Amino acid sequence: MSITQNLKQVKETLPGHVTLVAVSKTKPNEDILEAYEAGQRIFGENKIQEMTEKYEALPKDIEWHMIGHVQRNKVKYMAPYVSLIHGVDSFKLLKEINKQAKNNNRVINCLLQVFIAQEETKFGLDQNELDDIFSSEEFEALENVKIVGLMGMATFTDDQEEVKREFTSLKETFDHCKMYYNEMDNVELQTVSMGMSNDYPIAIECGSTMVRIGSNIFGSRNY
Ligand SMILES: *Cc1c(COP(=O)(O)O)cnc(C)c1O
Repeated sequence: MSITQNLKQVKETLPGHVTLVAVSKTKPNEDILEAYEAGQRIFGENKIQEMTEKYEALPKDIEWHMIGHVQRNKVKYMAPYVSLIHGVDSFKLLKEINKQAKNNNRVINCLLQVFIAQEETKFGLDQNELDDIFSSEEFEALENVKIVGLMGMATFTDDQEEVKREFTSLKETFDHCKMYYNEMDNVELQTVSMGMSNDYPIAIECGSTMVRIGSNIFGSRNY
């Protein structure tokens, strides 16, 4: 099936309140353009350099989401244009994003990445670390970032109950943060970014509002 057909099929399975991030990492510009022609405007990448090259070559009304692990020294390259950074997993990184956003006279929307999986290899904050960030005076002073939600990745497993537990815990953490911190000037929690090609229907069941789907749209990746 073509990218256009895949995209249509995926979209048909998404409720209206769920935003689709088409994950185009490792895929060539032609593939992205095909999805673009079919109406897709939000694309996700996991490497800053690759995303920046694509940003420069492709239509300017594309919204670029950084979904991968972010190195602090590379934030400056995406600061002029990035539309949402999903993987903010430390206060140090958030401060750097704030600094680079300020240099570019803009506010950058961010999601805090929460660790929900059983796998040590995945990144993210726990509930205590989240509370520490939100409650710190230093955080309150960051005027060029806005925390618009949380992001998480479930364990890669066939155990659907485990995946469900993990997504549910992210949704609970989101509700907790919304109750306690949503009144802050740089917080406006609306996005729960969870769900990929293999687990997004469960994620939506558990309260996801944004899914990040790559292989179901563009085919499998050859690294
Ligand atoms: C690659 C990636 C995805 C998409 O994965 P698929 O299984 O191809 O849908 C989603 N989220 C993150 C953080 C990724 O790195």
